[in-house]
Amino acid sequence: MSLAPPPARPPARLPDARRRLPPVHKLLESPDAQALAAEHGRTALTAALRAALDTARAAAARGDGVPGVPALLADARERLAAARRPVLRPAINATGVVLHTNLGRAPLADAAVDAVAAVAGGYATLELDTATGRRGGRGDAVAALLCDLTGAEAALAVNNNAAAVLLAVSALAAGGEAVVSRGELVEIGGSFRIPDVVRQGGARLVEVGATNKTRLGDYEAAIGPDTRVLLKVHRSNFRMVGFTAAPATADLAALARRRGLALVEDLGSGTLVDLTAYGLPHEPTVGDAVAAGVDLVTFSGDKLLGGPQAGLVAGRRDAVARLKAHPLMRALRPDKMALAALEATLRLYREPDRLAERLPVLAMLAATPAMLEARAARLAGLLAGIGGLTVEPGQDEAYAGGGSLPGVTIPTRTLALRAASMGAAALAARLRTGRPAVVGRLSGDRLLLDLRTVAEAELPALAAAVREAVA
Ligand SMILES: *Cc1c(COP(=O)(O)O)cnc(C)c1O
Repeated sequence: MSLAPPPARPPARLPDARRRLPPVHKLLESPDAQALAAEHGRTALTAALRAALDTARAAAARGDGVPGVPALLADARERLAAARRPVLRPAINATGVVLHTNLGRAPLADAAVDAVAAVAGGYATLELDTATGRRGGRGDAVAALLCDLTGAEAALAVNNNAAAVLLAVSALAAGGEAVVSRGELVEIGGSFRIPDVVRQGGARLVEVGATNKTRLGDYEAAIGPDTRVLLKVHRSNFRMVGFTAAPATADLAALARRRGLALVEDLGSGTLVDLTAYGLPHEPTVGDAVAAGVDLVTFSGDKLLGGPQAGLVAGRRDAVARLKAHPLMRALRPDKMALAALEATLRLYREPDRLAERLPVLAMLAATPAMLEARAARLAGLLAGIGGLTVEPGQDEAYAGGGSLPGVTIPTRTLALRAASMGAAALAARLRTGRPAVVGRLSGDRLLLDLRTVAEAELPALAAAVREAVA
């Protein structure tokens, strides 16, 4: 004897529309769902279908109608595809900020990319001396290149420049005092503040001078029995103009030597070449600092140097040795990929004549307005014929960014986009979420694409991204 099934409990609280949505198990039975399950797995598909149903239920509750099975499956398919897309993905930088920290700073030279690819997937001679078969020093090749390019006795690579400064303070000033000018107690974004780093390194900060003026005598008067280090810091993201003074580096170095202290200079971006040769303003080079007698110079690998994220230290042998021997070194050391990219990047500096054509950062900074105008014209040509899009060439100012060349603007060329179907912010959002992500600059009701930071080879992909975003 069989009992009649109990009547289904009436879903009294659900309005009709929502009751018409199919249950998950029904959706899973459809042939399209079977195909999706084969590709993504049943668990992921079930979760995607539940999410699609949740959204549909909410829409139905608002009176937006009930989607059919094909629409629900399409929603789930899109969710599954989105979940597979990497969050960290390539971007086209059309902001005009060359060293854009949010976009990964320096794009690598081809040689550096090849070097990374060559070691990434397999084993590498990271700490092997192939001549003797014995253990070799990690980063020895990079150190040798740095010495060669800067005239320093010794060098070292760590994870980034923040790490280099922390390591230098920890190894040379812990338990004692570090003397810093009040005009150089900077914050470099991302909460890297010199006073905090000195404290974290176990040293006491002694401030000298005034915001705008610090003299050699100020440093001299602050030196006591506990003083270990004179720390000089590049201002990086701001500029002081007007009534200012700071002692020459060579004079500070002489003072440090006389008093048995170390002079450490955080050069920030740091460059290995005279930028005036590329039509840019003068920046003191790492070699200048070494020649002036600085004991340790620290700088970034991915700013003006144009390499991977890294912190580089160049200076006197004994000072570098103390950093190398410090327990923090193990926590801050770079990996094989960073070292491969660094070595390849530094090798490019051995052929200065061809540097600007090989190093993307320098190529972008040195591009002439005429070159950018030609690039803008080419992009405009690729964008011509996209319905509902107006494109207007213009002039603007670009920046080195990343705490490099503060206050310096570089004349640049732009294309201003306006889409008939959406506002500039909506267009920017669509481009940003595309593949590759395209990041421009909003200016009123227009979206500016700055050609200084777009490589020639990226133009077709950029045009395709705009076409898709406007469609
Ligand atoms: C950029 C910068 C840093 C931090 O360098 P990272 O490589 O980003 O860690 C530190 N000091 C100065 C002066 C800088 O300009």
